[in-house]
Amino acid sequence: MPFWDKHIETLPRDELEALQVKRLKDTVARCRKSIFYRNRLKDVDESRFTTPEDVSLIPFTTKDDLRANYDFGLVTVPRVEIVRMHSSSGTTGKATVIFHTRKDIEIWADLVARCIVMTGAGKADVFQNIISYGMFTGGLGFHYGAEKVGMLTIPSGVGNTKRQIQLMKDFNTTVFHATPSYILYVSEVMVQEGFDPKEFDLRIGFVGAEPHSEQTRQRIEDTFDISAFNSYGMSELNGPGVAFECEEKAGMHLWEDSYLLEVVDPATGEKLSPGEEGELVITTLNREAMPILRYRTGDLARVIDDGEKCPCGRTHVRISRIKGRCDDMLIVKGVNFYPSQIEDVLMSFPEVATNYQVIVERVGSLDSLTVRVELHPKMFDGDLRKLRKLEADITKSIQDEIVVSPKVEFHEPGSLPRSEGKAVRVVDKRGKI
Ligand code: ADP
Ligand code: ZN
Repeated sequence: MPFWDKHIETLPRDELEALQVKRLKDTVARCRKSIFYRNRLKDVDESRFTTPEDVSLIPFTTKDDLRANYDFGLVTVPRVEIVRMHSSSGTTGKATVIFHTRKDIEIWADLVARCIVMTGAGKADVFQNIISYGMFTGGLGFHYGAEKVGMLTIPSGVGNTKRQIQLMKDFNTTVFHATPSYILYVSEVMVQEGFDPKEFDLRIGFVGAEPHSEQTRQRIEDTFDISAFNSYGMSELNGPGVAFECEEKAGMHLWEDSYLLEVVDPATGEKLSPGEEGELVITTLNREAMPILRYRTGDLARVIDDGEKCPCGRTHVRISRIKGRCDDMLIVKGVNFYPSQIEDVLMSFPEVATNYQVIVERVGSLDSLTVRVELHPKMFDGDLRKLRKLEADITKSIQDEIVVSPKVEFHEPGSLPRSEGKAVRVVDKRGKI
């Protein structure tokens, strides 16, 4: 069983928690050096903290706090100590900016290295980083981790799909990192170009940066004949390297020596019982330039609370797949559901290709839900009965899952809009009421 840092990855829980308390106290003390936290922490006395749960005595920090304190409001080091700036993607509004010292970059690379090695990848692999470089953290974050592991790292970035395929072929890429939506698109282009996605040397894929279902992972694994691992992170907490699956694939280990996790009710902010689904709230425990306390990630998941230690030997907590952001929830005809539930159903139909779109409209005073689906080319052979049956089957399965009955529309492969970064799956045309 491979480890990057066996000591810390398998640290007994009591030692891990003692380390968290120590680092939490240090982090709060450090935060007081920033303009934003100096005020925010007036009523907090970290010297009394004795357990990680004492973090709840600190106020939350939100994405809006980061936006309001743009640019250096949360920074705790002199400007000359800062060596890197990153930014979020801006999926939900104005992008936030994050700063790092040299030590921060080292620690981040180390966390990513742990994730990489945990999947069985290593220095003998050729790693193609098929994700956006630049301000987005997915590119450089993984790049530094992969180099630290010693992989031959190809910084191919995103886009220019035919060239991506050429690189895979010419340099025998064995491991890739990509968004699930983009790598599935790569597989379609491979087929168009006359390749079989299984004929490459690929063996491991890191997929993340956007919500995706277990069915989608399965689809990626079957298409390329690889093992795919879920990768979770966000720019405010460095980027990739926050939580990642081990070879057991029974949840993502969240690195608790660097991050303190809470799960709260997104509406009230109240702590939930172990195993209940809620919003992840995360405190950085090992950051210099821009530590963040109790960050409201907006992401929904739950702690895997099966009472079992992960067979891989790591002691760090495991979280479930991310269901989506709290504000991804759709309310259609009074019924609540998440787009990921629709994806789960769609990807279980082998006739469905890799791209889909959900449209919500108001027709008169009624909500209507349309699910546009790309089908495999072989489905367009003139057999209408086959298509009608598939339409009825998909409609029923979606209704069984989310209660609302959708209108299902079939499209040819490549005809729905596609993004090279994070996929935009939902178009809500209803406007605000
Ligand atoms: P933005 O929040 O503007 O999209 P980031 O680029 O920092 O900026 O993206 C982080 C967000 O991406 C997370 O908060 C989460 O919503 C989503 N995300 C990242 N990895 C995953 C994953 N493995 N599964 C689901 N969602 C993910
Ligand atoms: Zn494990």
